[in-house]
Amino acid sequence: MQLTGGWVVLDGRLDGVSLVMRCTGLLLGVQLFLLVMACAEAASGGSDNEVPASVDMSVRQVSEHVYYVEGFPGPATVSNQGFVANAGFVVTGAGVVVFDALGSPALARLLLEKIHSITDEPIVRVVVSHYHADHIYGLQVFADLDTEILAPDGSDEYLESDQATQRLEARRGMLAPWVNENTRLIPPDQYLGEGTRFRLGDVEFIITLLGAAHSDGDLAMYVVPDRVLFSGDVVFNDLVPFLDDADTRHWLKVLARMDKEKLEVLVPGHGAMAGDSHEAIRFTRRYLKYLRKTMGAAVKEFVPYDEAYAAVDWSGYDELPGFSEANRRNAYLVYLSVEAEMLRESALPAN
Ligand SMILES: [Zn+2]
Repeated sequence: MQLTGGWVVLDGRLDGVSLVMRCTGLLLGVQLFLLVMACAEAASGGSDNEVPASVDMSVRQVSEHVYYVEGFPGPATVSNQGFVANAGFVVTGAGVVVFDALGSPALARLLLEKIHSITDEPIVRVVVSHYHADHIYGLQVFADLDTEILAPDGSDEYLESDQATQRLEARRGMLAPWVNENTRLIPPDQYLGEGTRFRLGDVEFIITLLGAAHSDGDLAMYVVPDRVLFSGDVVFNDLVPFLDDADTRHWLKVLARMDKEKLEVLVPGHGAMAGDSHEAIRFTRRYLKYLRKTMGAAVKEFVPYDEAYAAVDWSGYDELPGFSEANRRNAYLVYLSVEAEMLRESALPAN
């Protein structure tokens, strides 16, 4: 919905003109109450009407079969309409495989439009890298198309958590009208407990389960003939990663393994695609290692968090998008998790 010169203009089943006519007709019938209710419902998105996303979403072709769209760097805001994560799609000749579903149904619809501008093939499958708000609120659009949705084990933990409902509630407030009361959490059709391969048309895919690294469960998708890897959020390229429920120790092991792969292109969860995949992987590794090193040293010396944070030289990162919003919280999460690791490891065995 846009508010244009005081008129409510809708892009759904009721267009602006018919809504105005309907409202006017009711007025003439002196049914002011009904008018208010009808307009309020339309304006709140309470029906099937959905405010279309109007952000710039350009499709970049990565390789013969692979395309992606790149979210804006930094946190979700009204001005970027929650378009902060990347999503990709692979045109196989026998259908399209989508990787991640973006941060609102409206963004997913815009992505669908972009896909249909390139191919008439149906969307066969959506592979979800992990269950975080900016990658999953578009899933309902694909579910409505009867597309099969695959996600890693661990997504179930997220879906059952209070965090999932609280985050959705918060986003409804923060990203209205694009995330609203019609936005819902969609579970996958299949939770993947282990890696898998599948072929569609000319293209073979390898899904690798990464465990709980950046989130409760992460996966990566490799497009074999093009040697393109969709890493999900285990790689952030040139912006401050978002940690939240991360296990940085395991995450670093995943990145070390990933760094050994010979890739043509890596499409990260956030930030630009990288022709030099090692550079993007090493950027994320350096950041996580730096947090663990600096916060680990502070925990070891019993330095209180605020003091520890203030003493760290952040000049390698403080110019990057997302620094002011995410860095302090990231460092605190690492401080707490390193402390917990140390306590666990130094615990005396029970008699
Ligand atoms: Zn994430």
